[in-house]
Amino acid sequence: MASGRVDLDGKPIKPITICMIGAGGFIGSHLCEKLMADTPHKVLAVDVYNDKIKHLLEPSSLPWADRIQFHRLNIKNDSRLEGLIRMADLTINLAAICTPADYNTRPLDTIYSNFIDALPVVKYCSENGKRLIHFSTCEVYGKTIGAFLPKDSPLRQDPNYYVLKEDASPCIFGPIEKQRWSYACAKQLIERLIYAEGAENGLEFTIVRPFNWIGPRMDFIPGIDGPSEGVPRVLACFSNNLLRREPLKLVDGGQSQRTFVYIRDAIEAVLLMIENPARANGHIFNVGNPNNEVTVRQLAEMMTQVYSKVSGESSIETPTIDVSSKEFYGEGYDDSDKRIPDMTIINRQLGWNPQTSLWDLLESTLTYQHRTYAEAIKKATSKPVAS
Ligand code: NAD
Repeated sequence: MASGRVDLDGKPIKPITICMIGAGGFIGSHLCEKLMADTPHKVLAVDVYNDKIKHLLEPSSLPWADRIQFHRLNIKNDSRLEGLIRMADLTINLAAICTPADYNTRPLDTIYSNFIDALPVVKYCSENGKRLIHFSTCEVYGKTIGAFLPKDSPLRQDPNYYVLKEDASPCIFGPIEKQRWSYACAKQLIERLIYAEGAENGLEFTIVRPFNWIGPRMDFIPGIDGPSEGVPRVLACFSNNLLRREPLKLVDGGQSQRTFVYIRDAIEAVLLMIENPARANGHIFNVGNPNNEVTVRQLAEMMTQVYSKVSGESSIETPTIDVSSKEFYGEGYDDSDKRIPDMTIINRQLGWNPQTSLWDLLESTLTYQHRTYAEAIKKATSKPVAS
C-alpha cells in the first residue's frame, strides 16, 4: 500500500470507503485487486458471487484483510443496500446482465437488470449526497452513421462517420423487434436518468462506457466453471473453442469491427476517476483502445496464433467456421458494425492512454486461460477407461 500518493493536481489522496456493487465480476475483481494492492482505500464488495475475488478475501492474514468486506446480496431485493451506500464515500455500480447472448433471449431480465435494478442505487446516492461511478457501455452508441451509407461511399473512410464521441455522437439502435438493443436502450435510459439527477438534484456522477475490455477472469468456460449450454462473450467463447481444439465460430462472417483494451490498462483509467473526483464528476468517459481495432474474424485468427504459441499445440486444420447469428444467438439478434472510441475527453480530463497492444494482451490472457483451464478440459473430455 502506497502512502503519500497525490492526485493529478498534486493534492494528497485521502483514503475513502467504496461500495462496489458487482465486485465479484470480471471488472470488479480486477478493480478490487488494484485497490487492495496499490491504494489505501476500503471496499465494501457487494455481489451474489465471490469466486473471482476469493483470493482477496481469504486468508484473514492478507495485508489488506481489514480493507475489504464481502456482502453477499442481490440488489434487486435487499434492504441492506441503502445502509452500505450510506457507509461509503463513493458507490461504483458494475452489476448488470451484460452478455450479448442474453439480450435477445432474456430481454426482460436484461432491461430489469440494467435499468430497474440500477434505479435504487442512483436514488440512494442522490438522496444521501454520495458520489456515483456508474458502468454503462459503448453499446449505447449502437450503429455508426457510416453503416447507413452505400457500401462504396468514400465517406465510410471519414472518421466523422464512425468515431464515437461522448458529447456529439447519436445513439442509433435497430427496431424494437431486434431485441438485441434492449441492453443498449436500458443502459442509455439509466445514463439519462443519472445525468438528470446531476442536473436537477446535484448528484456527483461519472459514467463509464467500456469498449470491449478483455483479460483474465472474463466470464466463464462452459462446462468447466459455467453452464455447459451457456454462451459467454467473445473472448471466453473463442478461448473455449481453442482449449477444446474446436473451430472458432464466426457469427455472420465475423465482419463486425471492434477495438479491444486490456483490462489492466482500463483499470488505471477507473482508478484515475476514483481519485480525481473534481476532474471526473459530471463526465461520461469512453474507455477503450482505438489502436487495437480488428474484425472479429481477425481476432479469431490472432487468438489461434497466440494460443498455439502459449500452449505449444499446433492449430487445428479448420480453425474457424461460419455460423449465422440466428443459429448462434437466436431470433432478434443484431449488431453494431464498428466501435472506435474518441479519446479526447478522457485525455483532457485524466491524461489517460491505453498502453497494451492486442497481441500482448492476448498473449497474457491466453496464457492465463491455458494455465487455468487446459487440465480441467482434458479431464472433462477424456473418456472413462472401461474396467
Ligand atoms: P460481469 O458479469 O463479470 O460482472 C457483473 C457482476 O454483477 C457479476 O459478478 C454479477 O454477479 C453481479 N450482479 C449482477 N446482478 C446483480 C444483482 N442484482 N445483485 C448483485 N450483484 C449482481 O461483467 P463485467 O464485464 O465485469 O461488467 C461490469 C459492468 O461493465 C457492467 O455494467 C457491464 O454492462 C459494463 N460493461 C463491461 C464491458 C466489458 O468489456 N467487460 C463492456 C461494456 C460494458
